[in-house]
Amino acid sequence: MKVRGRFAPSPSGEMHLGNAFTALLAWLQVRSSNGTMVLRIEDLDPQRSRSEYVSLLMQDLRWLGLDWDEGPDISGPFGPYEQSQRWDLYEDTLNWLKIKGLVYPCFCSRSEVQNVVSAPHDTGSGREYPGTCRHLPPALRERYLEEGRRYCLRFRVPDRELRFTDLNFGSQIINLEQEQGDFIVRRSDGVHAYQLAVVVDDALMDITHVVRGADLLWSTPKQIALYEALKRPVPAFVHIPLVYGEDGRRLSKRHQVPGIKTLREQGIKPEQVVGLLGYWAGLLPKPLAILARDLIQEFDLNKLAVQPVRLDSSMKIG
Ligand code: GLU
Repeated sequence: MKVRGRFAPSPSGEMHLGNAFTALLAWLQVRSSNGTMVLRIEDLDPQRSRSEYVSLLMQDLRWLGLDWDEGPDISGPFGPYEQSQRWDLYEDTLNWLKIKGLVYPCFCSRSEVQNVVSAPHDTGSGREYPGTCRHLPPALRERYLEEGRRYCLRFRVPDRELRFTDLNFGSQIINLEQEQGDFIVRRSDGVHAYQLAVVVDDALMDITHVVRGADLLWSTPKQIALYEALKRPVPAFVHIPLVYGEDGRRLSKRHQVPGIKTLREQGIKPEQVVGLLGYWAGLLPKPLAILARDLIQEFDLNKLAVQPVRLDSSMKIG
């Protein structure tokens, strides 16, 4: 089996060390297995995506020494490589799921869902949706639709144990119906949800390995349920530790930690950044300066760290 991996950033801000960490590991996984690297731009949400970030992102990746074989700038057999251009594919999939009775309109407002989920009698399991509209009598559902009420579409999750093995975090088990509830596949403003788009794209792009941040570990069973519903092979998943700022919150624009563009402008060398990321990943004994391509031979899934990275003021690049 030919390995196909991807880096799938959302162009909603400048690339920071956390994004670069994911990009590097996704790239190393592909390059160490002579696979094909795909760059996919997750600009699904028009309100949060900006095209200038796409070009900046590509510059930052190239500066880090990370390349790709298919992507928005070079095309390829599985394009388009921007989610904003793939609307029809998501809609076709939704229609198919509708025919199978696996999605339904949900008329609940955000506050209604939150009230129920956080009510004191709730099981406290962190279930995100109590299933209100799943059980709506068909006549009422029709009436709401005729009245033109706003609705999102939800996927009907299976009520059974779902097991999967993350190649870094090990085996996981969850009952989606009891622990998470039916999830949104198209928002009430018509924007397709990440969970749907990512599965449609990874499936149609023949992705075999998904390497991404551990914040998406618990999105994985939702996505597996979709793969199963669509009768598509499930890729291998490798989640990598998240990077936190000094305040213990996930690294983001809020933190004053310089992003890749700034580091580049400050005259820092890409080897220094790659060395630090390779050290965080558990691939280097210390943050030695190293080119991304020289780290390929060090890549080993068994060595990958699972501990989150916490940045502090003693952090030095170089
Ligand atoms: N677009 C997501 C992000 O930038 C990543 C999605 C994925 O890798 O599945 O966080």
